Amino acid sequence: MSKNGLSNSGKRFLVVPHGQLSFPAFMPDATFGVVRSVGSEDLKSCGVQAVVMNVFHLMQHPGSSVIRASGGLHSFSGWDGPIVTDSGGFQAYSIVRRNPKLGSITNKSIVFRPEGSSRRLRLTPEKSVRLQLSYGSDLVICLDECTHVSDPFQVQEESVARTASWAKKCRAEFDRTVEQRQGTGELRPLLFAVIQGGGSLELRKECAEQLLEIGFDGYGYGGYPLDKKGDLLTDIIRVTRELVPAEFPMIALGVGEPSNVIRCAEMGYELFDSSLPTRDARQGRLYASKGGFFIRSAGLDEDLYSYLYIQDNRHIKSREPISPNCDCMTCSNYSRAYLHHLFKMKDALYPRLATIHNLRFMTLLMERLKRDPNGKCRT
Ligand SMILES: [Zn+2]
Repeated sequence: MSKNGLSNSGKRFLVVPHGQLSFPAFMPDATFGVVRSVGSEDLKSCGVQAVVMNVFHLMQHPGSSVIRASGGLHSFSGWDGPIVTDSGGFQAYSIVRRNPKLGSITNKSIVFRPEGSSRRLRLTPEKSVRLQLSYGSDLVICLDECTHVSDPFQVQEESVARTASWAKKCRAEFDRTVEQRQGTGELRPLLFAVIQGGGSLELRKECAEQLLEIGFDGYGYGGYPLDKKGDLLTDIIRVTRELVPAEFPMIALGVGEPSNVIRCAEMGYELFDSSLPTRDARQGRLYASKGGFFIRSAGLDEDLYSYLYIQDNRHIKSREPISPNCDCMTCSNYSRAYLHHLFKMKDALYPRLATIHNLRFMTLLMERLKRDPNGKCRT
């Protein structure tokens, strides 16, 4: 077995500088270096293995010099487990797409001006990798050019060409920087590339082939994973996984809705990142498992959980926990009535308790999927 557990074991885990990442893993977004409302000790108590931080946001706040002066993201944030850093391409693209006056994307770089700021920032593939490594990332993601599935074919074609060309530059910069560190005894971080191509099977294939030729530790599904109606792009996501040999791990970027996570896990994706479960928690949408979700063997599908909207008046006097099958700190100590009260009072305790519950729901779901990697947990 390789040190990353990829060769013989059916890709069960990755070894990275700050620990081991066993599959499947849901990684909450800690965009600005924090999973909103919760601390590292909360994340650990929920069973979170890794978090995803973002270069695009961190280079603005608190800024790279602050992070480096603090000794990197781990000591800065107090999270000593694995940190995946995203390249910032998706966010920069979103700004430029929303308002072309705020930036531009060329073959060399993405230039953008964050809304409300007079500063123009520039991201090149090399700079993105250098920043991620200087922040102490365990898993670096190449800068890519994101598209929406509904964009014209020509736009998707340009995105694939640019993504492959940038991935090559990222690979070279990563290898050069890591080479300089040799002899320090530090474990090498990993480098993932992102497969673009929108809804075109042909372009997805072309992109995957080019990236596989360059060679990376793992790959990601890139682009918005949902269509205009908000439905998962099942066919293209499945084909993209099939384009990459099974020994390479794949991350379904931006997939966080529990039923979508289950479906992507069935397709062979092992890593998931999203801000959805924590945002849902703060907004009052809590994930409640139905009748023994975590203890009874059954097919894992969306019927096995439901949404509980804590602001609903029917919870005013409920002494029940959010989910009777959940072992999180919130469900162990607090009733729906109390959470409803905290939500209505806009008390700062509410988002913490709610976030702890939704994150524990996601990690319990991962444990369930781990027991049956095909997602079908039948006895
Ligand atoms: Zn709970």
